[in-house]
Amino acid sequence: MIATRADAEALDAADPLGRLRDRFVLPDGVLYLDGNSLGALPATVAGRITDVITHEWGERLIRSWNEAGWWTASRRVADLLAPLLGCSASEVAVADGTSVNLFKLLVAGLRMRRDRSVVVAERFAFPTDVYIAHSVAEMMNVELKLVDGPDELTRVLDERVAVVCLSQVDFRTGALWPAVQTTAAVHDVGALMMWDLCHSTGALDVRLAEWGADLAVGCGYKYLNGGPGAPSYAFVRSEHHSSLRTPLPGWHGHADPFAMSPDYVPAQGIGQLNGGTPPILSLLALEEALRAFDGVSTTDLRAKAASLTSLFTQLVTHHCPGPVVVSPQDADQRGAQISLQFGHAFGLVQALVERGVIGDFRAPDIARFGFAPAYVRHVDVWDAVDVMSQVLDSREYMSDRFTTRSTVT
Ligand SMILES: *Cc1c(COP(=O)(O)O)cnc(C)c1O
Repeated sequence: MIATRADAEALDAADPLGRLRDRFVLPDGVLYLDGNSLGALPATVAGRITDVITHEWGERLIRSWNEAGWWTASRRVADLLAPLLGCSASEVAVADGTSVNLFKLLVAGLRMRRDRSVVVAERFAFPTDVYIAHSVAEMMNVELKLVDGPDELTRVLDERVAVVCLSQVDFRTGALWPAVQTTAAVHDVGALMMWDLCHSTGALDVRLAEWGADLAVGCGYKYLNGGPGAPSYAFVRSEHHSSLRTPLPGWHGHADPFAMSPDYVPAQGIGQLNGGTPPILSLLALEEALRAFDGVSTTDLRAKAASLTSLFTQLVTHHCPGPVVVSPQDADQRGAQISLQFGHAFGLVQALVERGVIGDFRAPDIARFGFAPAYVRHVDVWDAVDVMSQVLDSREYMSDRFTTRSTVT
């Protein structure tokens, strides 16, 4: 049975996360299916940031580091993130961007396994992960082995491997690595498991402690809705804190920053991953944004992501001849996105954007749609597919006006 719009409405009426959407500002006339690139604006962020700028910065000036709690903001953000990551807040640092945290933790992981000579990453990972892995391998004088999928990973795993860095969700196809089995296989050879959770946190049921993960990084501006360029986070399992050595020791990660000592003494635990002064406006925006997840269970987020992506897959398969679903058919094996392969993917995405359905294009031929479970409804899915079938019928995606690409796709 192909779902009707009434079926979609019924699914929304029964959705335990239904009210969560009220915590976000979503523009009229837009069906936003790109929360995996830039999350929507939580309703309380604008007011909070206005107050930070006019009062805390404008009036209270330097005093705000103490009295407004700027100094401790990254710890509060870690407190808010811990339930979404399934770990303890003392295992989470909030600082820098994902690329920088990938660098810090890859080097730190190699330093924890100095007797080993190989780092493993994914050939088709998000490019920044591959670029950073190459540079770290060269700097640390280890070999980088690139794998594509579980079979190749099995082939390269041996006692020489120090760290394996994988993205839980493939950013192009949405395919998931099985986190528990993969972590266990990496541990079987004594290596460290590092997860990139950019496309997971805020949409899936992340359980770093249960998985036994050693290291992880993730992004603040995708499903966590922290705003463009929001700070990222880094996770280090507590048992590794005693051997943690960051390659970027900054004064905010010093045990006693205001001693202004010429000698670096790392802060206890995860604290040394704070490098320099954080971007306070962005950090406080992320803090406020994460309050939108108050009382939300990651199991519900995961279940809703599965339901939204299943509905989209069914409707597209039935109503939209042409594009091919390349994300896994089984909801347990994919994240909160569906990717469609289509010869005219770029034009398709542009034609949809023109009609208010926002997804994104990933070269060479993927139209990608993210279903942020916090604010996307089943009716949005239904309406988006309705628009897509019109765009396909009219062949609007062939129009000349969709042939030029902007800098950001
Ligand atoms: C989005 C994303 C990044 C982004 O890194 P930045 O440093 O924030 O630009 C990195 N890795 C993956 C897997 C991503 O999806």
